[in-house]
Amino acid sequence: MNKINNINRRKFLEVFGGCSCGLIIASCTAAPITERKQLKLIPETTLNRQAAQIYERVKAKTKLSEGNKQLDEIKEIGSRIEQAVSLYFESKNLPDPTHNFQWEYILVDNDKIKNAWCMPGGKIAVYTGILKITKNKHGLAVVMGHEIAHAVAKHSVERASRALILNVGTAALDIFTGGALSNTQRTTGVDVAGMLRTFGIDNPFGRKQESEADYLGLIFSSLAGYDIRESTKIWERMKESFKGQEPPEWMSTHPSSARRIETLKNWIPEIIINYPPIGKIT
Ligand SMILES: [Zn+2]
Repeated sequence: MNKINNINRRKFLEVFGGCSCGLIIASCTAAPITERKQLKLIPETTLNRQAAQIYERVKAKTKLSEGNKQLDEIKEIGSRIEQAVSLYFESKNLPDPTHNFQWEYILVDNDKIKNAWCMPGGKIAVYTGILKITKNKHGLAVVMGHEIAHAVAKHSVERASRALILNVGTAALDIFTGGALSNTQRTTGVDVAGMLRTFGIDNPFGRKQESEADYLGLIFSSLAGYDIRESTKIWERMKESFKGQEPPEWMSTHPSSARRIETLKNWIPEIIINYPPIGKIT
């Protein structure tokens, strides 16, 4: 009896602790480029579909800034990063993690919110408030690169999978069964903020994921032809602007802005050399 318990316990640890057990190999994959192991129990298609629905709600419920130069710039940067990501994986003979993405970009007219996000499947939002911090196309590319990296590395799938096995909160389980969103809509009308939280928006990803999004984001921006040296300047400006306030998700899980800037400084020269602008991006 004891022996069986021990074996079960060991199996449990293998499955839930290290992602190294052969039995669940199908649900274990690695993040692109960094090759960090990830547990994925929830189908990506399910999350993408739900995300697309929420994105439509966001578009219907928020004041969008349309038909202007800023939105054109966001779309142009996005398009270059999209192409760079696909070309890069193609050049390495690797599957393109964005092959099933349906990229879309909105600019939300809200000067108070200094944030941007990318939902699973490539649904992106930039808030006008962050444009004062990004200042130029290189800065904006670094921020968009970071958000896009969360989606390319499937951080939401990973997060929802972890929530599922740890049984913390029912959101992930409900997504899996399609319950959460429909229930929320039935009981409270439309809880856009709540739905966004489900995907990790306005709710920090783990520190490893944040760091990975920083790293991959710089790579994607560099491949797309942007000057990633701007990234450290953005964090300086960001630090300044959030003095005494709650920072957005992409700052909150880091030990300190100063340390983040140091880390970026270490990565930048290597990334510029190893990931120069790729292909003929139009
Ligand atoms: Zn982030």
